[in-house]
Amino acid sequence: LQKKLDKALHIFKGNSRINEINIAETLKDIRKALIDADVNYKIAKIFVQKVKEKSIGKKVLSSLNPKQLIIKIIYDELVSLMGKKNIEINISNNPTIILICGLQGSGKTSFSSKLSFFLKKKKKEPLLVAADIHRPAAIDQLKIIAEKDNLPVFFLKKSKNIIEIFDKSLIYASEKKCNVIIIDTAGRLAIDKIMMDEIQKIYQYSKPDETLFVVDSMTGQDAINTVQSFSKFLNIDGIVMTKLDGDSRGGAAITMSSIIGKPIKFISNGEKIENLEIFYPERIANRILGMGDIVSLVEKVQEQFDEEKTKKIYKKISKNRFDFEDLLEHIQQVKKIGSIKNIVSMIPGMEKIIDNKNKKKYSFKEIESIILSMTPYERNHPKILTDIKRKKRISNGSGISLKNIDLLLKQFSNISKIMKTIKDHSGKDIIKNFLS
Ligand code: GDP
Ligand code: MG
Repeated sequence: LQKKLDKALHIFKGNSRINEINIAETLKDIRKALIDADVNYKIAKIFVQKVKEKSIGKKVLSSLNPKQLIIKIIYDELVSLMGKKNIEINISNNPTIILICGLQGSGKTSFSSKLSFFLKKKKKEPLLVAADIHRPAAIDQLKIIAEKDNLPVFFLKKSKNIIEIFDKSLIYASEKKCNVIIIDTAGRLAIDKIMMDEIQKIYQYSKPDETLFVVDSMTGQDAINTVQSFSKFLNIDGIVMTKLDGDSRGGAAITMSSIIGKPIKFISNGEKIENLEIFYPERIANRILGMGDIVSLVEKVQEQFDEEKTKKIYKKISKNRFDFEDLLEHIQQVKKIGSIKNIVSMIPGMEKIIDNKNKKKYSFKEIESIILSMTPYERNHPKILTDIKRKKRISNGSGISLKNIDLLLKQFSNISKIMKTIKDHSGKDIIKNFLS
């Protein structure tokens, strides 16, 4: 998908504004890429429409290039399709009843035990209830997994009555002081009447606090039909995506969650008991875009924006209007990005303040506190700072000695001069070069 997106976004190069014409081709490719990632075609269509609406006419902010802007719009849109934020399961009731449903092989039994393990870490006392009345082996499977990690399990070997199993599990739970009951139900290979009747029966009888639908993320489009069928019979509170350790893109996740309008709550990404994660839409958005580095791209957008600010500062320097306000803004920007090295080198002469050989080394924090102790007027008019009363006040305010404040002021007055004369390796004037 990354390659496809790269190709799709290629044509934006050089255009300062996204328009109807240059976006049409791109959106077509994006739609194709989404469908390839298992996003349902209807959803992909709506999705692309939304991205289009948001992109067209949107003046590309400062130095953001359209490609990155589009990626950001796509990314945000993906996240919002999946419900924006994580919605936790409701485990406040005592006991809390959690009903696990889904097709056979989707990962219900594995998930039930993982959830139990997860809740135990949250200081809950879960009880696993083996309610697969069709396959006796299923009980053994749950027992084996659970016993390995000391998770309590309830089962009735001979019973074929799911209501009876549930009733007795409640009694057992209160004896053992368990406060969350996880019902691992039977699944079929495909939707059929027997399974649906059974799940509906236990659903209506147990009145679960949480009904979780488990789906194998590899099943792609089929998952959508399945979840739709299930939601006709019971009210699903959340979706659990399993087997995300495989190479599925997880596109079905988006589709399902937006088709039935329910959040994905967990993802399972391995066979081990601890391979369970709370669902975060951002992570799946990254995965669907097929790029771990989408976030870094988005960050780059931010960086470029900051580069624009730097340009502004350079302009001021070249006009001799660089003041303490600018220096402060610059420092705060650097702090936000966190890559001091980069930014220090973006302002020529800056190293001289930060790390002058024979004199004091100022940290950003010190410089910041000095500037913050100045009045706005002083910041904009560094020249008036020859006044000793002002300097004393700033010294008191910032906790930096008068001597060091003098030093900083002296160095500051040199910056513009220094900066304007600094040349790059090829002897070109750095500021003129940067601004051209
Ligand atoms: P159930 O029929 O719905 O109860 O499904 P199971 O829990 O028995 O899981 C079916 C198979 O999928 C088992 O072999 C599990 O080990 C495997 N499985 C379940 N979840 C995951 C997962 O997140 N990753 C991987 N790799 N395998 C999983
Ligand atoms: Mg099972």
